[in-house]
Amino acid sequence: MKQEQKTLSDALQSLENQIAALQKALEEKPEYGMGKGDPGVTQWELNQTLLNQLQERASSTRKALQRMEHGIYGTCQRCGAAINPERLAILPDTRLCIRCAQKAAGE
Ligand SMILES: [Zn+2]
Repeated sequence: MKQEQKTLSDALQSLENQIAALQKALEEKPEYGMGKGDPGVTQWELNQTLLNQLQERASSTRKALQRMEHGIYGTCQRCGAAINPERLAILPDTRLCIRCAQKAAGE
């Protein structure tokens, strides 16, 4: 469990670094208007989208760490079954076992 916790906090740390870098890049908002199709604008929008994705991942990683602290990490939130360790290695912040995840995807 210790190793998993470290992997997750390392992942969170790296996400937070990326978020900080993006937020800095986003502070310089390009001018809209005359320069339509300005590559700076497009890049800014891409960064904004990327930032949202990173923040979502950071938030689910943070929740996974919290579940770890409460000792409920690795347990399916729906059916309470233990989540396959191989699945956890690929998706450290997953909250569902493979069966429930497949069911959720089909819903
Ligand atoms: Zn389940």
